[in-house]
Amino acid sequence: MVWDKELARELYGLTGNIWSKYLDIDERGRLIVKLKGYKIDLAKLLSEKKLPGAHIRILPIIRYMMDKVYEAFMEAFRKFGYEGEFKPVYPLKSNSTTIVVDTIWQYGVKYNWGFNAGTYPEIKLLSKYTNKKPRLLVVDGIKDNKILDLLVKMNDNWEIIVDIESMRDADLLSKYRDLNIGLRIKVVSKSSGLWSHSSGLDSKFGLLINTLDEIIKEHPWIPGRTVLLHVHAGSQITDKNKLENIIRETITLYNSLVNTGFKNIRYIDFGGGLAYPYVEASDHMFSSNYSLNEYAEILVKEVVESAENIPGIVFEGGRYIVAPHRITVTKIIDTRPYSTPEDDETSYPIVEEIKNAENIKELVYVSRRAREIITRLMIKSPINIETRRMLEKLLGSITKAITCKAYEIISKDKDNALKELTRTPNFVFEELVKPSHRFFASFSLFSHLPDTIVADQYFKVTPLQRLNEKPEVLGVISDLTCDSMGEYSAFATSLPSNIETGTEDLFTSLDHKLMFIPGKTLRLKGIPLHIPRKNENYYIAFLDTGAYQDMLSMNHNLLDGYPEIIIDIVNDDLKIQYKNLETTENYPF
Ligand SMILES: *Cc1c(COP(=O)(O)O)cnc(C)c1O
Repeated sequence: MVWDKELARELYGLTGNIWSKYLDIDERGRLIVKLKGYKIDLAKLLSEKKLPGAHIRILPIIRYMMDKVYEAFMEAFRKFGYEGEFKPVYPLKSNSTTIVVDTIWQYGVKYNWGFNAGTYPEIKLLSKYTNKKPRLLVVDGIKDNKILDLLVKMNDNWEIIVDIESMRDADLLSKYRDLNIGLRIKVVSKSSGLWSHSSGLDSKFGLLINTLDEIIKEHPWIPGRTVLLHVHAGSQITDKNKLENIIRETITLYNSLVNTGFKNIRYIDFGGGLAYPYVEASDHMFSSNYSLNEYAEILVKEVVESAENIPGIVFEGGRYIVAPHRITVTKIIDTRPYSTPEDDETSYPIVEEIKNAENIKELVYVSRRAREIITRLMIKSPINIETRRMLEKLLGSITKAITCKAYEIISKDKDNALKELTRTPNFVFEELVKPSHRFFASFSLFSHLPDTIVADQYFKVTPLQRLNEKPEVLGVISDLTCDSMGEYSAFATSLPSNIETGTEDLFTSLDHKLMFIPGKTLRLKGIPLHIPRKNENYYIAFLDTGAYQDMLSMNHNLLDGYPEIIIDIVNDDLKIQYKNLETTENYPF
């Protein structure tokens, strides 16, 4: 088949239910946001104002995610006949940007959506909001008198529950008789994913049972005043079985508390952990093997079947609610070769050998020899300029010979050759998914996508234009900062097996790198992109950057702040607002 926008949607992962609802590709191959019949050309929003990049916030997506969560729980309640209370709360730490909190606050009226906060500034931020109907506020973290005094002032306006996590907390709270108490308890069951260290007995927050026993000996009022059991086993729990274990353990714990004098517990707060699908492939570490609906069902079923005197359910997910609302866009300023550019001017014996390989096995073998020859040349020191010139040419010729040969073999016997190529790790596959270019982008990973640096977090990347043209090369995205970090190259492809493709479709058009194999999940080492033309405003977007990235932002090389474009629908009208435009001067355009 020829390249078209359907293939582009598949390649860049715009097919899941959030992105197929909100993003589309128009006839000119440009990425557009769909909102209530409006079609917004994202690249145009930036190029018109000569922006080097921007965080684009799409506020209706936050509301959509809140609806989705609420509906998933309602459906599970009907299915299992649950008749308790549902209390969603938003943990401020996921994103406490004013516009985000305002949006959740305002839209949350209809669901009585509450909050979870753990620091004085977070609680202060919430104290400005006044409720008609008190909303739940679950307070965890390290407390002091200042925090507790403020909470007492807010107590009429909110349904406040303060976690006890230590003897110090109990001592403090013994003097605040009007505040309801929660118990944050550690779960033994281990979770999964990048944040699994938040679970288990050696996790940071929460009580051990023996500590709780000690505390109760000194503070016998605790069982009577406790209204909530709180657990949190880490963000982004990707494994369904682990999730089930955590929920079962929590309910067992709840039952034991109820049966040992905690007669007033009326809620279980299951914490965060609902995984956001950063990629759609289920065998990938950045997406879960369960859906939102399954999450709600697992939780509700377990509560209905196992919990004594049916507690209210507190949902405390933040990542899932805010991750998709922010899209980070940046302009490509320069492209440079990743390593030695491909070359076929000079002929070397090893290159001839590569050209004679008849199948993938032979090609893998001779590629390994080529690698050995290069390694031997490199360790000769000092390398004089003649050797260096030859080395660069040789490396370029080898790269080109391997990719061309692999392409030739695959076009003759596609299925078998691809199977052989991906069977075990090998140099040929490595070469085929290795970038050939660096794309310098006008931004800072430290500032705009800090989790790529601190946690190796994956974000989808897509160009904003030329999506009707096949990608030309695999490229690494390099930012303006530090030279040992500040590069992003991860790209997972997972196209369905029923896609009809010829060999040509699988490869980029200029550097002949592999982009995908139908029915297989591949992790490329570069992102399929086009070489920007002279004076072209070529923009790329990182999707799903709305959770945690705002709050963790670093100031490396004095680059912090970025223009913001806030998109909303107000009374059926499209409203687009630009903010922080003064930050554009810090970035090349
Ligand atoms: C971080 C945190 C959350 C949010 O978890 P996500 O899975 O990222 O939404 C919820 N509750 C507590 C106590 C947390 O520390």
